[in-house]
Amino acid sequence: MKKIAVVGAGTMGNGIAHVFGQGGWDVTLVDVVEPQLEKALAVIRKNMDRQIKKGKLSEGERDAALQRITTATELEQAAGAELVVEAATEAADLKFKIFEQLAASTSAATILASNTSSISITEIAAHTNRPDKVIGMHFMNPVPMMQLVEVIRGLGTSDETTQAVSEIATSLGKTPVEVADYPGFVANRVLMPMINEAVYCVMEGVATPEAVDTVMKLGMNHPMGPLALADLIGLDVCLSILEVLYGGLGDPKYRACPLLRKMVASGRLGRKTGRGFYDYS
Ligand code: NAD
Repeated sequence: MKKIAVVGAGTMGNGIAHVFGQGGWDVTLVDVVEPQLEKALAVIRKNMDRQIKKGKLSEGERDAALQRITTATELEQAAGAELVVEAATEAADLKFKIFEQLAASTSAATILASNTSSISITEIAAHTNRPDKVIGMHFMNPVPMMQLVEVIRGLGTSDETTQAVSEIATSLGKTPVEVADYPGFVANRVLMPMINEAVYCVMEGVATPEAVDTVMKLGMNHPMGPLALADLIGLDVCLSILEVLYGGLGDPKYRACPLLRKMVASGRLGRKTGRGFYDYS
């Protein structure tokens, strides 16, 4: 039996649990906030129902996948998993603590992966007893829809771990792309400066959010404008990633726009709170 524990049941955790459940894995979804777990299960069901409507999933497959997903509020319940994918809040100290606990409570053979958007895999690995088995498994949002998994090798990550995680990603119907461990990896190093610049355009009165997004959609053929995408990702997550890019690379081109900071401070985090650059109420 293939067993995975997913730590964190937010935007990404529910998507990761969804694709592993659908892929035949036994999933333990762990979150410290119990209502998040109930919300995650409801979101997974809703998203699977969408797949059914599109003819991509049968009702029987949905029911079987949902049955494979159980929830827990204690990290110790990750014990027994052969793979853990951590998708908790993007904060370095929190992740270091989670990995310390995971190293203590899982077997030495368990691969410990992080879905972090930007925090150093090498630093996370230094908080465990098995840097060779620590790796970045960076899914894209929304997980069931997006093809890419960035596979990030820390300094000590072994070839075996990299190969195992790439094979797992492929078995889920995803395309793994191997990248080295530098701030923001590739996806966010390229994406976040664009989102940040779009926020500057709004702050400086160059254009409204709608106008900025329309320019990028119709002019650059992006399926979604950068501000709608920022709302989908979560403005707090975007800010955290920019801080890591700025801190890790030291280049002022990565400094977060003051308007982004202000929106995060006011709790306008995007879709997950009902309001960001757009209103979702
Ligand atoms: P989120 O805020 O939606 O969810 C985070 C969840 O982690 C919350 O439910 C929270 O209760 C839980 N959590 C906090 N501390 C915990 C702990 N000690 N143990 C268990 N659960 C805990 O965040 P998200 O957007 O899902 O992001 C999760 C991770 O995925 C971050 O590292 C982020 O950088 C990364 N990521 C996000 C996106 C995106 O588009 N949002 C894309 C790729 C990667």
